[in-house]
Amino acid sequence: MNIDEATLKEIEELKQDCIVLSHNYQIPEIQDVADFIGDSLALCRAAQRVDKPYILFCGVDFMAESAAMLNPDKTVVMPDLEAHCPMAAQLPAKLVREAREEHPDAAVVLYINTRIEARAEADVICTSANAVNIVRAVPEKKVIFGPDANLAWHVQRHVREKKIIPIPERGHCITHLLFKPEHVERARREHPKAEVLIHPECTPEVQLLADHICSTEQMVKRAGESAAREFVIGTEVGLIYRLQKEFPAKRFYPLNERAVCRTMKMNTWEKFLLQLRERRNVVRIDPKVAERALRSLQRMLELSIRYQ
Ligand code: SF4
Repeated sequence: MNIDEATLKEIEELKQDCIVLSHNYQIPEIQDVADFIGDSLALCRAAQRVDKPYILFCGVDFMAESAAMLNPDKTVVMPDLEAHCPMAAQLPAKLVREAREEHPDAAVVLYINTRIEARAEADVICTSANAVNIVRAVPEKKVIFGPDANLAWHVQRHVREKKIIPIPERGHCITHLLFKPEHVERARREHPKAEVLIHPECTPEVQLLADHICSTEQMVKRAGESAAREFVIGTEVGLIYRLQKEFPAKRFYPLNERAVCRTMKMNTWEKFLLQLRERRNVVRIDPKVAERALRSLQRMLELSIRYQ
C-alpha cells in the first residue's frame, strides 16, 4: 500500500510527541512509518532512549506491558488492546507458583513472551536470543522454564548439564507450529544455495533441519554478515519485509507463507492511524506487579552483560 503524501505529513506531525515502535511481524505500512523496528526487548530499550511522552506500541500485549513497565513516566498506547498473544496466555501466574512449590530447588526462568503477572513470579527473564546463556548463568542445576516448550527443548539441547522443566508441558506458539519438516525439505529442493534460518519456537523436528537457529534479531544479523545471497526464513512472514528492505541485494523466501500471526495482524493500518490521532487504547499495568516483574527483567540484563 502506498501511503499518500497528506497522510505521511499528518503522521510526521503526530509523531512530534509520540514514538512509534513496530515489532518485526507488523504489516509493512506500520514498519515503514515506525521509528524503530525490532524484537520485544530491543523495542523496550529503544523506548527508554527517546524523550517523548507517548509510545505507540505496535505488537502484542506482553510487549506493550514490557514497554509500560520500563517507561513508567510515559503513556503506552496500542492500536488494538485485544492483541493478546496466545502463547503468553498459556502460562498463568498460578502455574508458576505451583511449579516453584513442587521444585523448590529450581530457578524460574521465563521467556519474555509471558504476561506480566507470571513474569512477577520469575527469578529471571530471557529472550529467544539469550535463553541458553541465561539458563547457563543461573547457579541452580534445575530450571523451571516457560511458556514455550520448543524453546525449552532448544535450551536443554545446549545446556546438557542442567535439567529443564517446561511449564506448561506443551506450551507453544501456534504460528511457529505451522512449520513442518516437509517445508524445509521443499525449500532445500527449490533453493539449494539458500541458508535455512529457523526460530527456536519451531518444533524440535524442524529445528533439527536448520542451518542456524536464530531469534528474529539474529536472523537480521546473520543475513547481513553471511556470504550467502539467499535465505529461507522460518519465522512469521512479517520479518521478510524488513529483511528484503535492509538487504535488497539478497533474496529471502518464507519457509511457509501461511505462517501469519493473526494477533500481530490485528494491528491494522486504520487502527494504527486512529490511535496515533486519539491515543485512547492506553496500556494499564498494576505498579506493584510491575515492580516485581521489573526485577526479573533487570536480572536478565545483568546476566546478559556477563555473556556479551
Ligand atoms: S508469533 Fe507466536 S509468540 Fe509471537 S505474538 Fe504471535 S502467537 Fe505470540
